[in-house]
Amino acid sequence: MNTLDAEKGRTLLVVGSVALDTVITPFGEGKDMLGGSAVYFALAASFYVPVQMVGVVGEDFPDSHVELLKSKGVDLEGLQRRKGNTFRWGGEYGYDLNQRDTLFTELNVFETFRPELPDAYRNTPCIFLGNIDPELQSLVLDQVGEPAFVAGDTMNFWIDLNPEKLMEVISRLDVLLLNDSEVRQMSGEPNMIKAARSLLERGARGLIVKKGEHGAMMLLPDECFFAPAYPLELVIDPTGAGDSFAGGFMGYLARCDVIGPSEIRTAVIHGSVVSSFCVEAFGVKRLAELTLEEIEGRAVEFKKMTMFDFHPAKGRRSD
Ligand code: AMP
Repeated sequence: MNTLDAEKGRTLLVVGSVALDTVITPFGEGKDMLGGSAVYFALAASFYVPVQMVGVVGEDFPDSHVELLKSKGVDLEGLQRRKGNTFRWGGEYGYDLNQRDTLFTELNVFETFRPELPDAYRNTPCIFLGNIDPELQSLVLDQVGEPAFVAGDTMNFWIDLNPEKLMEVISRLDVLLLNDSEVRQMSGEPNMIKAARSLLERGARGLIVKKGEHGAMMLLPDECFFAPAYPLELVIDPTGAGDSFAGGFMGYLARCDVIGPSEIRTAVIHGSVVSSFCVEAFGVKRLAELTLEEIEGRAVEFKKMTMFDFHPAKGRRSD
């Protein structure tokens, strides 16, 4: 059980990429749209608590994007502006929206990024380490006091490149969020449950496995929970689904007084609901227009769809 001291304030810190994304899906395309793991996370979490963002952009980063983030209560004191171009990423999806091809990755100012936390961020109770070099994730944790709850994300690239450092960072997290193929890759185990258990044995304190349209699975040492994904008829652009899941998840937890298995379960539902909105439009468009009322309304529907009572069949053959 982690305790959150309300006196310290309800804030959430995120470090991650801030990008200009080009995305192609069967439903259209968008060029140089606002994106990046820290941005999707911050917009999603901003429905719950003020978010402090640590990242880097170049001179070409439009002021309108800065204004949008500020209008959602995102604190940008930790966002560095450097000489050069902003990180750019391009991705393309086919009709199977679970499959994505990376078209290009231009690191630009992100290549030499060193996260530097402003003093005001160093005692923030909840921290999310977006998908960046585990060396940098570790550098962030070295700059903070004793946070109440830390979660992090990673990707196949870092699992291949620096698995030792990654495991070291993971042992400092309360919860690691991964997608199913990353869990298999990290553990070398094809069965998902065994794979997730083996990561817990190797030092992860908690694990959330994101399975796209098949929902999410939470694994703690003594607790296992599955949540389906909200069934959507229209998915336009899946980019940012994982980061907005993390934003809803962490945003909910940052408002709790204590964080234990039951709060983490509810947080998984918040993550699922917020990310279900993210994918309904290109880039951050849907998140930017979203309201808390819409989130709560969909959460109630989600509960109705997934709740069931179990009754043994009457007149069973063994009776
Ligand atoms: P997701 O769809 O949740 O996996 O996140 C997509 C976001 O990740 C996009 O907005 C990209 O800008 C960002 N992204 C893609 N590749 C990288 C990378 N190598 N490092 C950091 N962020 C990235």
